[in-house]
Amino acid sequence: MNVRNLHRARTTAGIIAVIMLLAVTFCVHRVYAAAGMPEFQTVKQIRYTKSAAWLFQEPKASAPKAVKLKKSRKVRVTGISKAGWSRVYDSKKTYYIRSGRLSRNNGYLVAIDAGHQRKGNPSKEPIGPGAKQKKAKVSSGATGTSTGIPEYKLTLKMAKKLKKELVSRGYKVKLIRAKHNVNISNSRRAKIANKAGADVFIRIHANSSTDSGVKGALTISPTAENKYCKKISKKSRSLSRAVLSEFCEVTGAKNRGVMYTDTMSGINWSKVPVTIVEMGFLSNPKEDKKMNRSVRYQNKMAKGMANGIDRFLKRT
Ligand SMILES: [Zn+2]
Repeated sequence: MNVRNLHRARTTAGIIAVIMLLAVTFCVHRVYAAAGMPEFQTVKQIRYTKSAAWLFQEPKASAPKAVKLKKSRKVRVTGISKAGWSRVYDSKKTYYIRSGRLSRNNGYLVAIDAGHQRKGNPSKEPIGPGAKQKKAKVSSGATGTSTGIPEYKLTLKMAKKLKKELVSRGYKVKLIRAKHNVNISNSRRAKIANKAGADVFIRIHANSSTDSGVKGALTISPTAENKYCKKISKKSRSLSRAVLSEFCEVTGAKNRGVMYTDTMSGINWSKVPVTIVEMGFLSNPKEDKKMNRSVRYQNKMAKGMANGIDRFLKRT
């Protein structure tokens, strides 16, 4: 072995020694860390904070607090320990939070009313608390001019789709009706949403016109002067605007603007922010077919309404 080769051999041995030393140090560190660290079962879950809560650097109460999260904040859980900690991935870093601070639910309840029912109820009820003016308890609704499908079937289909979409976003959902054969007046629908303590009451309808060329979506809101539901009129206007703009954004439907009226019993009796979504015109053959026959379009309508609710509740 000449001097040059001897030198090379020594260098190689040195490098190997350093690598081994590093490996041993790493392993010792791992074992040491594992001893103090509760075991985490790997999971992949979306959860929400029940109230404002801290993310910690390590899964122990004495660890430094890193980030304070607001109520209803969405978090990605990557692991759960039996010691009561969840490992979360947030802003590209791993943190820990007490599992008890998290919930499957985002803290909001949405009441969904599928407009109409199998048979309308022409007997009358006051249009609002203390109102002299009366209107039919439930009107019979429109019918698809091309498909022949009645509005009450489309509205329930969409209510169920919207429910699914909202549940996947962490919402709790109350369906005012889950079948066609019911007899629930518009004022009672509002009272059910009130009693449930809904954060949002969304009423799903489809429109109709004598002109088959008329198309597009609109939402209905109480006016600023509404005397029956003054407390929620401002919030209902903002809900109506948010839902309509997101609905039209996702579906591409023509935006017909928010319609303001104080003649809707299901709005006037409401004590929670409320909007009526008129998704499109059943009197327009093209819109009728899209709404009733295209599952893709139905999914877009549900997504658009859910985006609007998210926006209203400032969850985006
Ligand atoms: Zn209707």
